[in-house]
Amino acid sequence: MTTEIQMVDLKGQYQKIKQEVNAGIQEVIESTTFIKGGKVTDFQHHLENYLGVKHVIPVGNGTDALQIALMALGLKPGDEVLTPTFTFIATAEVVALLGLTPVLVDVDFGTFNISIEALKKAITPKTKAIIPVHLFGQHADMDAILEIARAHNLFVIEDACQSIGAIYTFADGTKGQSGCMGHIGCTSFFPSKNLGCYGDGGAIFTNDDALAVKMRAVANHGMEVRYYHDYVGVNSRLDSIQAAVLDVKLKYLDSYIQKRQQVATAYDQAFSRYDQLIIPGRNPSSTHVFHQYTLKLKELDRVALQKHLQAKGIPSMVYYPVPLHMQKAYLNDRYRKGDFPVAEQLSACVLSLPIHTEMDEEQIQYITNNLIAFL
Ligand SMILES: *Cc1c(COP(=O)(O)O)cnc(C)c1O
Repeated sequence: MTTEIQMVDLKGQYQKIKQEVNAGIQEVIESTTFIKGGKVTDFQHHLENYLGVKHVIPVGNGTDALQIALMALGLKPGDEVLTPTFTFIATAEVVALLGLTPVLVDVDFGTFNISIEALKKAITPKTKAIIPVHLFGQHADMDAILEIARAHNLFVIEDACQSIGAIYTFADGTKGQSGCMGHIGCTSFFPSKNLGCYGDGGAIFTNDDALAVKMRAVANHGMEVRYYHDYVGVNSRLDSIQAAVLDVKLKYLDSYIQKRQQVATAYDQAFSRYDQLIIPGRNPSSTHVFHQYTLKLKELDRVALQKHLQAKGIPSMVYYPVPLHMQKAYLNDRYRKGDFPVAEQLSACVLSLPIHTEMDEEQIQYITNNLIAFL
């Protein structure tokens, strides 16, 4: 191997954009405008153009983005918010934190995304919002979700933390950008995300002017006019150095996505003929930006496979080993093991392989050969 195999190779990626990134960071330091100001606004506008969305609101991280979105909707304690049970904790954490009730929903075995059948069954008169998660970089069924939301007068907050740049094609042929189809979309710029900065960062998307004004205020101590606080807010902002990094990387996002898709295609080709490996299912209405490439193992010992790979210098990860309804911290008074069989089955059999913008043919070959040798 020319280079060590990693889940994500941020060092290799940085080497290729080093001059631009360093110049951007240097500019911020020289200007001493560290909070708000030029770079943050530039990046905001560039991202608005890229997504074709009216408002991008930069915030401190993806979890804050979700929290601020919920805070702006004026929900009351006891209001129910539907989220998939197979996701990163942040999606339901913010719901619980605000005193709202997270109502968990099982997912689809093929795509890992929220099950529409289960979603319909979970709606009650207290349901106020749905947070679909476009898990691993592919959209949930937005045609169905938006239709259900319209019928029941629900807000839709897309968790697009893993899916920025993915494109959805609606049944009528129109296209939607990830995070820009519901009332609000949220993304994360955590370093390993598809558009990652060099620290923490996140953003909220909306086409609704009034919601945009309110969410900007909530993110800034609830103030629209300085030192006049209309809402109880938070302090959550993207800093200028992170914006400088993101403004460079945004230009490469489409090529980064292409690179990930090429790796995924190579993995698919290598693995699809083996019965013990189930390649990631595709939603035909969505492109897939492969934040993760996640296999399902059939009658294979996952621990032994991971050990075998590790011995060959190949990292692998389990996203996610425990569905939310089985997490100790909360929710266990309401839910029990067995409640969401698909999510539980997935947690037991998923395995994510290295996928990033710097992978070469040799690395892919090495990974696929070694994995297949285990079967
Ligand atoms: C990363 C992630 C978040 C949280 O983003 P942070 O920036 O780490 O706060 C939320 N939801 C999903 C699905 C994520 O992958």
